[in-house]
Amino acid sequence: MASWGTAAKTNFQKIERVQNQSLRILTGGMRSTPINYMEAVAGLEPLEDRKMKKTLTQYTKFQHLTSHPMHKLIASKPKKRLKRTNFTASALQIHKRLDLPDLKPDAPLQTSIDWPPWSQQSHPEIAKDIDGISTKRSMSKSLLRCVTQDMLKEKYPSDHWIRAFTDGSASEAIRDGGDGPNCPCGASRQDAQHILQDCPQLEEARRKYWPEPREMNQKLYGSALHLGITAQFISSLDLTI
Ligand SMILES: [Zn+2]
Repeated sequence: MASWGTAAKTNFQKIERVQNQSLRILTGGMRSTPINYMEAVAGLEPLEDRKMKKTLTQYTKFQHLTSHPMHKLIASKPKKRLKRTNFTASALQIHKRLDLPDLKPDAPLQTSIDWPPWSQQSHPEIAKDIDGISTKRSMSKSLLRCVTQDMLKEKYPSDHWIRAFTDGSASEAIRDGGDGPNCPCGASRQDAQHILQDCPQLEEARRKYWPEPREMNQKLYGSALHLGITAQFISSLDLTI
């Protein structure tokens, strides 16, 4: 609509004629029915009013959008052309005719936010507390496990959530990882270090695969041959993980 602001009068009248014909169809008016009556009945704004409104809105936008190419253009004095009005001239003309207050911008318009909603990434929520557990040492391991499992069951039921358990606090990636299952030997954690090196109940089984004592590093990160032995050893055990 604002782009018609500078349309030649004859062209604008052509569009007006279409709107007036539509008004007659809409309201059942006749050729003699005054147009402003039909506009009032149909609740339709006169095209001239719309043109003025849109032109003023656009003009105000250009004034506020300091980075817009039109911003500089409208600030300079409009050139006079024969029989043609340019956008700035017609905006100023309307402004004067309606006796509006000065349109000087008081602040530049912000066109967009840095992160539009569709590119905003929501960060995962990290919950570090479990209701009922103040410190890890405040209750026994089995009670800690029960309380935690109850919380998971209630808040994150496994049919709605994908659960991934990690050995978050493992030292050197092999010891004291999370709260592993208790070992039948009585040790509190059945972690990699315990199974591969320490568990007294697995001493015999280990000796079958490693007649000589072998370092943890080799068992876990050694050559393919060493890793193969580790894998065979693990699968020979009846471990429930
Ligand atoms: Zn053990």
